[in-house]
Amino acid sequence: MRRKLLETLRQKGIQDEAVLQALWDVPRHWFLDRAFEELAYEDKAFPIDKDQSISQPYTVARMTELLQVEKHQKVLEIGTGSGYQAAILHQLGARVFTVERQRLLYQKSKAFLKELGYSRIRCFYKDGMMGLDTFAPYDRIIVTAAAENVPQPLLDQLVIGGILVIPVGSDVQEMRRIIRTDETTFKKEVFGQYRFVPFLGGLDADD
Ligand code: SAH
Repeated sequence: MRRKLLETLRQKGIQDEAVLQALWDVPRHWFLDRAFEELAYEDKAFPIDKDQSISQPYTVARMTELLQVEKHQKVLEIGTGSGYQAAILHQLGARVFTVERQRLLYQKSKAFLKELGYSRIRCFYKDGMMGLDTFAPYDRIIVTAAAENVPQPLLDQLVIGGILVIPVGSDVQEMRRIIRTDETTFKKEVFGQYRFVPFLGGLDADD
């Protein structure tokens, strides 16, 4: 099933071999509710707790490809969710920091990633609108929820030459890649349309 998924991803245009290898190496069925386990290698998003979702494999692959992650880079992910995207980034050799605003998801994914052996992924229960100042700057930042605007702290927390990948828009989002070319200049590129759960400010402790 995993082999078939990789074929589908290639057909849809994913070319980065390291990214495809990471999707091969990380068992997606571990990150889904038991009820969906059998369908884990279909190219579909699925619900996780708290009305959130694990992104479609194509979306994970495409965003990761756009991020151009290199080994040992510091990568900040906003929206831990199931932890799957964080595991993919870790598999690529990045030093991963991931932030989640839903307490239940933070607690579950943190424990789960540790149990799976991804204990070097550092999980934080925080509002990702503010980025994660303590460990800034980052070589790469990836936002896995739909932002209305690009939060300024995320731009501030990029190194010069750093890359931010973020879906921007309300109903439908355009995938943006923003490269910090110097202290005050950012280059923007746009790559197709996607639909994500909303990027919300503040923390949610209701579990
Ligand atoms: N990367 C995840 C996708 C999860 S869906 C995965 O691989 O499964 C997006 C996640 O972003 C949700 O869990 C949601 O709670 C979280 N989120 C939304 N707004 C946020 C914010 N301001 N800070 C941190 N996380 C946020």
